[in-house]
Amino acid sequence: MAEIALKFLTEDAVECELGRLYWAREDDGSWSHRVKDLSERFGVSVSKLPERVGIAVCATSGECRCTDCGATHILHSRNHLLTMLKVPGMRCADCADLYAKRREDERKQAEYRDRLCVLRAFPELDADPNWSPRNLSLPHRVALLALLRGGTRTGEDGLPYLAAAECMDPPFAPTQELSLSLLSGLYHSGGAAPAPHLHAPNAIGEAFVCEPDGSATYYVLRARWQIPVGRSHDRYASVLANVESLVAHEDHFGRDALELWITIATHECIQYLRARLNEHDLDLLCNERLCQAVQHCLAFYSTSQVMNLEWSVVRDLVAYRTRKRIHPKHASNLVPVRLESYADRAAANGWDVRPYRRDWYCPQSLVSQLLYNLVLKYGDTGFDLLPGAHQP
Ligand SMILES: [Zn+2]
Repeated sequence: MAEIALKFLTEDAVECELGRLYWAREDDGSWSHRVKDLSERFGVSVSKLPERVGIAVCATSGECRCTDCGATHILHSRNHLLTMLKVPGMRCADCADLYAKRREDERKQAEYRDRLCVLRAFPELDADPNWSPRNLSLPHRVALLALLRGGTRTGEDGLPYLAAAECMDPPFAPTQELSLSLLSGLYHSGGAAPAPHLHAPNAIGEAFVCEPDGSATYYVLRARWQIPVGRSHDRYASVLANVESLVAHEDHFGRDALELWITIATHECIQYLRARLNEHDLDLLCNERLCQAVQHCLAFYSTSQVMNLEWSVVRDLVAYRTRKRIHPKHASNLVPVRLESYADRAAANGWDVRPYRRDWYCPQSLVSQLLYNLVLKYGDTGFDLLPGAHQP
């Protein structure tokens, strides 16, 4: 136990005596005088005592030093001493300022390092004269057009950029899974690339991740996008017109159009199914098995009719779950098989499956609008058609 050193700040004998007695300790470290006794003897309230002591003496202890410069801390009260002993590593005011400044410098350096790392992995694209949306597949042309139509914005620098999928309203695709697959596919086929938007605060933290090895990855739904045509509003507008005309002149009886129709219809059905299950606190994993089950239904029924089947399947499943008290995850796992068998029963018995309207909570996504209006040219009726049935 280190000595408590006292420096007297007054010549008043009474006050000096109070200071001496307040800080006096026994060999075992206990206080020699109780605060209550001192307060009565010197006629000062318990709460005001430390303040009065502080006017008379400046107390320090070798046990309470600044971790950086070693200067002893001034003790304001007995409690203050106890707190400091419990929390070692306190800095004096000067060292605390220096420390904060050092931390801020380190933070700025780290931010600068991260920016460089992101810029290396996702550089700003120069105009590439060989780049053309003609080289993209139909799904990627549609994805690019959805980005351009729903996402063209003006950046902090006054130039255009394409917004992150998660910022789009209506949504980019019916499900996050389809957004992920279309956008990462678009990136890998060279149609668009994640854009480092270094002007915005926290831009990197939200959309990009710097790995310890100096590489960087990106969050597909959070990243902004860019196309290699040079950043100007005119260029972006001309690419939009170009992709629009390519998509509009797609052979809508072709295999690519049919495949995209089935993909988008599948995800619209999953979007609806998920919304209904979420109302009962059930999640739904969008995996291959589920897609297979939905596509089984889409072989007999239109998207709008499959939603009717899904509504009934969810109703029955929720009742079953309550009756049997099964785990939510188990209930969700039952969805694909129940959906398939329900559709089979409906088809075998020739049930009249009334088509549903689009659900308020499942607004039509950008890619779906492009598919039905521009590629297939069925407009809203596409929703009520069997994918692949070309007669409205
Ligand atoms: Zn210090």
